[in-house]
Amino acid sequence: MNTSQPEPGVYDAVVVGAGIAGLYQLYRLREAGFRVLCLEAAPEVGGTWYWNCYPGARVDSQSYIYQYWFSRELIDEWDWSERFPAQPETERYLNFVADKLALREDIRFNSRVNGANWDADSAQWQISTEQGERLEARFLISCTGMLSAPKLPPFPGAEQFRGTVAHTARYPREGLDLAGKRVGVVGCGATGIQVIQTIASEVAELKVFQRTPSYGVPMKNESFDDAIRDHWRARAGELAERVQHTTAGFDFDFDNGSWYDHDEDERRAVMESAWDSGSLAAWVGSFPEVFTDAEVNQVMSDFARERIRARIDDPELAEKLLPTTYGFGTYRVPLESGYYDVFNRDNVELVDVREAAIESFTATGLQTADHNYELDVVILATGFDAGTGALTQMNIHGRDGLSLSEEWGRDIRSTYGLQVHGFPNLFTVAGPLAPATAFCNMTTCLQQQVDWITDCILHLREHGYRCIEPSRETQDQWVAHHDEHSNQTLLVKTRSWYTGDNIDGKPRRLLSYLGVGDYREICDQVAASGYAGFVLTR
Ligand code: NAP
Repeated sequence: MNTSQPEPGVYDAVVVGAGIAGLYQLYRLREAGFRVLCLEAAPEVGGTWYWNCYPGARVDSQSYIYQYWFSRELIDEWDWSERFPAQPETERYLNFVADKLALREDIRFNSRVNGANWDADSAQWQISTEQGERLEARFLISCTGMLSAPKLPPFPGAEQFRGTVAHTARYPREGLDLAGKRVGVVGCGATGIQVIQTIASEVAELKVFQRTPSYGVPMKNESFDDAIRDHWRARAGELAERVQHTTAGFDFDFDNGSWYDHDEDERRAVMESAWDSGSLAAWVGSFPEVFTDAEVNQVMSDFARERIRARIDDPELAEKLLPTTYGFGTYRVPLESGYYDVFNRDNVELVDVREAAIESFTATGLQTADHNYELDVVILATGFDAGTGALTQMNIHGRDGLSLSEEWGRDIRSTYGLQVHGFPNLFTVAGPLAPATAFCNMTTCLQQQVDWITDCILHLREHGYRCIEPSRETQDQWVAHHDEHSNQTLLVKTRSWYTGDNIDGKPRRLLSYLGVGDYREICDQVAASGYAGFVLTR
């Protein structure tokens, strides 16, 4: 590896994606002396924070834990302006990191991978891009993000619509002029909520097409001054350690002990305090039984509905905005800022598409089962083919021509969410069946996986191995453990992107492993054992 005169187009590693994970992966491998290239479909770095430039996009992990930990300089030199920064700031941060570490020189922008084939004879990945490039690499590392393949709406006719259609994850970078327009937003997940609360006061009319309501928790954002920044900087070392061992990679956890150790008043006080924190502690900071015990979940869900109901003037409308078909926390809990208040405005109408589904676009708007809605702009906040979508679109073929999309079309399996049996030297950051697929403060889990992969590749180099692949038995064991673990939770009962239910025909399995701290320990043990359960070849 890393020959002094490398052939053009031949690399030790190709990293796909220049978002949070890809930038760090590129940096780690380059620092270790590998010849590495990062391919990025966009013209800029940022990944999720490049593409999701829709109105109101904002991170809902606190800025002081949504960052890189590996460089004290980065921590010291970057000034977060808020507790929950908006998308442009997070994108600027990633640009700052790319500049500071001179990463751009090893990133090829506007390069979308459209094929990767494992060549067993040379033990190399043969990689192609839509732009016609051909590359070779010993290791292929996808850092394509768990939410990067947009789900297009399952209703036809967009081509006949004379207005403007935009998916939130492909929103025009220059924005859309929505002032005075009749706008429809389809989808009320974390993204739809941010769009709706942001544009309601700007547009002439807003139609919110809601099928399944969310349990929105009021965000408490705050501006940061130097004193606050210094406070968090001083705690950076402690936070970096803490987030690695909590359930969901945040600085908060289920620190209140068991639900059953408390009386009714104490439980209520914990729920109130978690809710009023204005952070995702409302979701993963009260009691663990919210995720495993139907009765406890019922109490928490009732509490959440009570809080939401109090925000909406019209009682009939309030009932429509309350989730009733699934329990609190079993699908991503979004933070909201004025979302429910929007429905008290005269220019906003909730269209309940559970009762009358959207059938198609028309030339002038959207047709539901019982009404034609005239619109100038339709914003699709319809989500993603999560966890697997970006990987299956890359047309990856492993040993003996095995197709990853066909494999995962049958059954979504992986080994620790890091590798897949049949695909030597392919590493999948944020791949399915790891916490990084959903149930994690993303920067925590992405850095942990990148570190694990880098250590693994270093181990191979040190011991003279060319290839690593998990055995079928190891993968079967991981999938069985994952299923056993997830089937003890209520998350598997809810239909959402967490289980692949939002995509027709996608095999059903909880995409995320639950338990960041436990997962980390398991991964560390595998590395300490010299990669037991993996086949290493020279
Ligand atoms: P999502 O949670 O999958 O929500 C998609 C929405 O579109 C759902 O309400 C869904 O309704 C609706 N929908 C889909 N097809 C529809 C149809 N044919 N008719 C009507 N409604 C339809 O996607 P998302 O909101 O983009 O969020 C995805 C994830 O991104 C979040 O869970 C979160 O992890 C992440 N995110 C994070 C942030 C942040 O950090 N601040 C912000 C935004 C997103 P059904 O549920 O009925 O299918």
